[in-house]
Amino acid sequence: MRILTACIGHETNTFASTPTTLEDFRRGSPTPEFGGGAAILHHFRGTRTVHGGYIAGAEKHGFNLEPLMHTFATPGGTVPQNAYDSLKGLLLERLKAAGQCDGILLDLHGAMVTEAIEDAEGDLLAAVRAIVGSDVPLIVTLDFHANVTAQMAQHADVIIGFDEYPHTDMFERGMEAVEVLAAMQRGTLRPTLAYHQLPLLTMPPKQCTLIEPMRSLLAKAHAIESERGVINVTLAMGFPFADIRNAGVSVLVTTNDDAELARRKAAAMAEAIWEKREAFHVTLTPVAEVIEYARTQARGLVVLADGSDNPGGGAPCDGTVILREFLEKDVQDAVVAVIADPQAVAAAVAAGVGNTVTLDLGGKTDHRHGAPVRLTAHVKLVSDGTFTLRGAMGGGARACMGRTAVLVVGGVEIVVTERRIQPYDVALLRSVGIEPTQRRLIALKSAVHFRSTYQDLAERIFDADTPGVHRPDFRCYEYRRLRRPVYPLEGT
Ligand SMILES: [Zn+2]
Repeated sequence: MRILTACIGHETNTFASTPTTLEDFRRGSPTPEFGGGAAILHHFRGTRTVHGGYIAGAEKHGFNLEPLMHTFATPGGTVPQNAYDSLKGLLLERLKAAGQCDGILLDLHGAMVTEAIEDAEGDLLAAVRAIVGSDVPLIVTLDFHANVTAQMAQHADVIIGFDEYPHTDMFERGMEAVEVLAAMQRGTLRPTLAYHQLPLLTMPPKQCTLIEPMRSLLAKAHAIESERGVINVTLAMGFPFADIRNAGVSVLVTTNDDAELARRKAAAMAEAIWEKREAFHVTLTPVAEVIEYARTQARGLVVLADGSDNPGGGAPCDGTVILREFLEKDVQDAVVAVIADPQAVAAAVAAGVGNTVTLDLGGKTDHRHGAPVRLTAHVKLVSDGTFTLRGAMGGGARACMGRTAVLVVGGVEIVVTERRIQPYDVALLRSVGIEPTQRRLIALKSAVHFRSTYQDLAERIFDADTPGVHRPDFRCYEYRRLRRPVYPLEGT
């Protein structure tokens, strides 16, 4: 059985000021010039990623996988049209050249926006379908934050979204995609997909499936999934930092050849989410309060999530608001991870380990994440910034921060990187000699994913009240293209 795979992934924050270029996609590919084939299999085999799941599933069923390309750019601003057109052109060209195949597995995010296309994945799926025709099974895996559209649902045979946020089930969803394909090949499955969009936007901290209301809603989804005839239930909670018509929550239900059952179950699931809409309200805590808590009450590690500057949602990752407050209040045993600032890294490298350096740190991308902080720091460590993820989210995969320096000012260690990277895995801090369990207060540029490895280490977790293009606060964004009405913008 000959199965083609591909990944063109991006989560587009249309409120971010920096566009996501073809160069960013190049950096997000493990191969030069977006090469496919065995190099992709080699790179992802044994990792807790979607492609890792495809590979394990294919090996189980004896399928022959042929990756056409794989690129996932770090979330950021809108994708220039020519960058998207190049990637799409490359994929379609290789798809045509590949000729006959028995199935296609597409590993997409579901929230990519280009200059001209709000629904890039819908556009891509339509183009793929036009080439391969209606008989070739086309199974799509999407991120939990996909802004799913009717166009995506129309062109895919089955859409399988991540269940979990933090995304700790990417491998399992990749495996599931192969299982679905195998059942279609055996002739025991004729998938029917129902798509149900809600008039609802939700924000990351409360989209987390480790806490309510999502924990109960996911349990309900799994209960429906176990019913006779139901193949998959996907809760796509959407990416709210995109001003597009179809941003927000949708439900997808796939059944075995029973359109009415799929429609009914999707409606029931949507109703259950809608009933909980008020429970998605987010509470943010001022940084000063968290510092005070860590100083006077905490008996263990306190984690401060700077979700507003989360590079995993397209923010610059060079915000300085928390750092400034840590320094002004002379906080001890504290870490700020990370601040992406290539100029500062260059200055630290030039100064050398063991020496001091004076520089302006962070706040260089725009004016929405705090101003640069002038400081004189001790250069504690310099590294090449590569490490292996160890947690359930992407575990086994290599990560690269670019050259990295650990700067120390008073009681604060600052991890400064060349690249924007979300520090969700404790392996990142350990790779630069910082043991999280031996610190009192750690600020992370992450909204929820950090819980995949920090949840059990932290005595208390706070969502920081900081500014930024990923701030979970609807009052900060002006939506012009979004369909209306949508809760909570229009109340109940
Ligand atoms: Zn996501």
